[in-house]
Amino acid sequence: MEPKIWLSSPHMSGFERQYIDEAFNSNWIAPLGPNVTGFEQSLESYLGEGVHVAALSSGTGAIHLALIMLGVTAGDEVICQSKTFSASANPIVYQGAIPVFVDSEPESWNISPELLEEAIRDRINKGKKPKAIVAVHLYGMPYMVNEVNDIASRYDIPVIEDSAESLGSTYNGRKCGTFGDLSILSFNGNKIITTSGGGALVAHSEELKNKAVFLSTQARDKSPAYLHSQIGYNYRMSNVVAGIGRGQMEVLDSYVSKRRANHELYRQELPEGEFSFLDEPDGHFSNRWLSCVLTNSIETREGVRLLLESHNIECRPLWKPMHQQPVFENAPKYLNGVSDELFEKGLCLPSGSNLTENELNRVITTIKSYFD
Ligand SMILES: *Cc1c(COP(=O)(O)O)cnc(C)c1O
Repeated sequence: MEPKIWLSSPHMSGFERQYIDEAFNSNWIAPLGPNVTGFEQSLESYLGEGVHVAALSSGTGAIHLALIMLGVTAGDEVICQSKTFSASANPIVYQGAIPVFVDSEPESWNISPELLEEAIRDRINKGKKPKAIVAVHLYGMPYMVNEVNDIASRYDIPVIEDSAESLGSTYNGRKCGTFGDLSILSFNGNKIITTSGGGALVAHSEELKNKAVFLSTQARDKSPAYLHSQIGYNYRMSNVVAGIGRGQMEVLDSYVSKRRANHELYRQELPEGEFSFLDEPDGHFSNRWLSCVLTNSIETREGVRLLLESHNIECRPLWKPMHQQPVFENAPKYLNGVSDELFEKGLCLPSGSNLTENELNRVITTIKSYFD
């Protein structure tokens, strides 16, 4: 069997170890400590816009805290992009709230502004104004930020920007992760940079950041005794894994370039007419976290996928939309067919920043052989 080629595996730069060693040498193994602060500062200066970052244990936890901070409670409705990974939607249910799924537009594959507005109006007519909107820059491609923000502010509904897949992407020159009322990042093992597991909440004031830190460390009131006037969570990032994050920040931009180069190579080398690619709309710069292709039919998509699998090459269909998931069967949904078609025809190819030329050639040769 040929060695495994992964879709997107962790890529350590070598810089991580010094920060981990510091944590061990100074016995900062307990949560918090200088690596957490250092990682947060490094993210803040990378993102710009004067943001404040709270490092957390996962992107999912960050979305959960964002919903809590926006006052989402049982019975509320929250609009969520249907074409996404389930972690965008699950925390809505943790709050006892109801996800309302909205389909994509074909330009960025993200939440359709047209359908978003239709959904908001319809929910209001049915008696409930949505409490928040979860919009996602899927695979690193920025959503239609201006259009989404316009609608959100016209109806006065806050946006949670799910930037889990889009660290390093920009929209009109501004970094993704800075566009939401609250934004979230993920450093899970498959993301563009990883802390082995982790996430962050990005806020536009120090107060909101402090609130996130307070809630993520068990909501302990200022008092010598453990005094609690709110329900807390154990969602803070540990000082050990934050050290990995600090090392990864030193190479983030080079990882963005490498992933974009992977994408360009697939564009050049894969048989013309059999595949199409998502172009960057004006003003959109994607980190190309995962390289996605569209085939001409579900048969080709499955054929190519199974062939790659038989050569020990990992690849996956695009995310199955949330409105198709059994667990969300009863959720309200506003559809236009776009995400269903993407799911049928789309495939994520190996995309890691650590892929070698040989590995990429193996992927391309194998795919070409399907059409011979
Ligand atoms: C990975 C991911 C998350 C969740 O992040 P975790 O750190 O794995 O909890 C949320 N949303 C999207 C779109 C993701 O890809």
